[in-house]
Amino acid sequence: MNLAKRLIFFLLTLAALAGVGLGTYFLTGPSSPAQAASEDREQNNVKNESAGVSHGHGDEASTAAGKARKHNGHKDDGDAPDEEMDHEAGSPDSPLKGGGHAAHKHREPDAICPEHNVPEAEDALCNSERVPLMRAGEGMKVRLAFSGAAEKVGIATVLPLPADKAGATWPGQVVFNRNRLARLSSLSAGTVQRVMARLGGHVQKGTLLAEIAAPEAAGLKGELAAAESRRALAETVYLREKDLLSRGITSRHEFHQAEAEFREAQSAATRARQQARDYGLSGNGSTLQVRAPFAGTVVERTAVPGEAVAPGTHLFTLADLSTLWIEISAPEDALPEVQPGRGVMASFPGLPGRTFQGKIFWIAPALDERTRMLKALAEIDNREGVLRSGLFGDIRPAGRMAIGNLAVPAEALQSINGQPYVFVRLADDLFELRRVTPSRRTTGSVFIPEGVGPRDEIVSVQAFALKSEVLRARLGASCADH
Ligand SMILES: [Zn+2]
Repeated sequence: MNLAKRLIFFLLTLAALAGVGLGTYFLTGPSSPAQAASEDREQNNVKNESAGVSHGHGDEASTAAGKARKHNGHKDDGDAPDEEMDHEAGSPDSPLKGGGHAAHKHREPDAICPEHNVPEAEDALCNSERVPLMRAGEGMKVRLAFSGAAEKVGIATVLPLPADKAGATWPGQVVFNRNRLARLSSLSAGTVQRVMARLGGHVQKGTLLAEIAAPEAAGLKGELAAAESRRALAETVYLREKDLLSRGITSRHEFHQAEAEFREAQSAATRARQQARDYGLSGNGSTLQVRAPFAGTVVERTAVPGEAVAPGTHLFTLADLSTLWIEISAPEDALPEVQPGRGVMASFPGLPGRTFQGKIFWIAPALDERTRMLKALAEIDNREGVLRSGLFGDIRPAGRMAIGNLAVPAEALQSINGQPYVFVRLADDLFELRRVTPSRRTTGSVFIPEGVGPRDEIVSVQAFALKSEVLRARLGASCADH
């Protein structure tokens, strides 16, 4: 080494110590007449590296020197030919791999990275130290080696699913609310005289539905009359004994006996009246009236005028349809979610685009031994009257319906330094590393209330390969430039 060269070396070292950094010297190389050639070289490098994911160290330096080295030093000259060969060979095993650790430097915060053709501030590979600083919904770009790289590695994307379509749903079937269901039968033998209720008709509590001519009803009426007169007699005796007792004419024992008989006659008469009322005994003594026990809809009508009926013959089914039940069959692993009071949302293939709210109120004490399913009942609102008993639907916990809550496959979620990210495809060879806020997980899905939109193409296969690139860039940053 002659003296002139030593001097140049010394001066450059001084410059490095003055703030350019020693690494820059190696990146920029000595200023020389070969600069023009070096520029050409850089052009080539940029072209080559667009065929390979390259990454380097993000550096916020905005000094003139930084700008200069940006311009000049893109690559360690010694490495470039090898990489070129690598790229030409295609590296089929890892087409993502490319570019060495040393890479370009930055000019300005809004400058475009010549290597990755993305704004440097958003360059996850050159500016990877910014990755942990992102907030939910923010993203940084990851440019792949070449446009076919994603395909070569097997990267595939999916659109996030609305939460109501993702995750486990439980099959359910609509049934009548059995607390508000009445099967009305004839309580006595007789003949259906008149039927007032029509099928599907809404009736108020106490509405007369049918009349049945029942000879037995006459007997019932007689029994009621007898009970009433016994009671009246017993009352008379009781009052008389009470009077005699007060005057000391009768014994206390006799008074108590009269009192007991009166009480008994009184309750017998009450029972007879109740029975007559239950039977629907009407004023004329031989006609039984069938009345609605509550407001509801006549969902079944078998009563036919003129038909003979026996005690217990079914006449109507009355249901209050303002609420219905859903019989849910939940799998074992849903046990934590199937809780009394838990809100559920129900949707039905037969009623597309609509969901109905309900609440679980009963859970079977045991799993079904054969199916291993847990039965539960939810009451569901049906004031609009669109639901029908027998409908099959999909039931899920209500919490999953939060607006904007989307779900992605579990394998799409990647963790970098313990923080959650997904990759979103922006172009064939361009991906965004997106910080997200996942919420709950179900089998195979993660719910992401913040950070992804319904049109984001989420990398669901080989997201790990992209993550590895980002990690490798960070690693490179720390070993190449310090
Ligand atoms: Zn870059």
